[in-house]
Amino acid sequence: MARSSQTRISTKMRTPRLYVGECRQGAGVLTLSERNHHYLSRVLRVREGQSLVVFNGVGFEAQATVTSMSKKQTLVTLSSGTVTEDIRLPITLGLCLIKSNHFDWALQKATELGVKAIQPILGTYSDSPPKDEKLRKKKDHWQEILVNACEQSGNNWIPKLKPLLPLSELELDREQLVFAHPQTETIPIDPSRHSFYLVGPEGGFHMDEVALLKKNQVKPMSLGPRILRAETAVIVGLTLLGQQYGYV
Ligand code: SAM
Repeated sequence: MARSSQTRISTKMRTPRLYVGECRQGAGVLTLSERNHHYLSRVLRVREGQSLVVFNGVGFEAQATVTSMSKKQTLVTLSSGTVTEDIRLPITLGLCLIKSNHFDWALQKATELGVKAIQPILGTYSDSPPKDEKLRKKKDHWQEILVNACEQSGNNWIPKLKPLLPLSELELDREQLVFAHPQTETIPIDPSRHSFYLVGPEGGFHMDEVALLKKNQVKPMSLGPRILRAETAVIVGLTLLGQQYGYV
């Protein structure tokens, strides 16, 4: 998913928001990463004196000003900043692998909607994952999508991206699990507990997977009488669960 200048600037204030993982609480001067230097100097073409908002992905946010910009690096000076409230949904999204661009889109939307964590899952009917080095690159690509979505949506808490896991290895008794499955009866969640929301691949869950989930009292969730694309099921399910948590 290409990074565009528009997605990373607040439309209201036109102030760029940058993820700066290395910044800690407290004022000071910071040398930006190559990614952020490139973005500011080549994409936005900002000049010294430009105001920014920076955040570190675990809640800290500060105002900053570009104080030095050369061909090779950008330095910014930070105000003291604050640790902002974590307003993410108490939900981990478990999403079976689907076509790559649809998966990317679902990650972006889930981050905008404020999930706490994302667990890519390999179900029986999932698309095949890339191997070795390609999988490592794919994870970096997914992580960049989460960062971009947080920059765009004003979220200072980046969801945790968990390693790819076969559905058969999910710990079913670990937390409140909910799985989206057509033609099921929805069982309400307990809003005092964290949820793990599981969405199947385009081919759906295999009947053995459904049997396993049901046997372990995983709560089914209907999203209506029509069959939705997996990525649509991500948005609809997170919205409905968010409502049960009183977040929407
Ligand atoms: N033929 C598949 C089936 O019947 O399960 C369709 C799979 S659907 C394209 C992909 C995933 O989105 C499903 O595995 C489920 O998790 C979710 N989903 C789609 N429509 C749904 C609905 N109406 N209710 C609940 N979940 C749904």
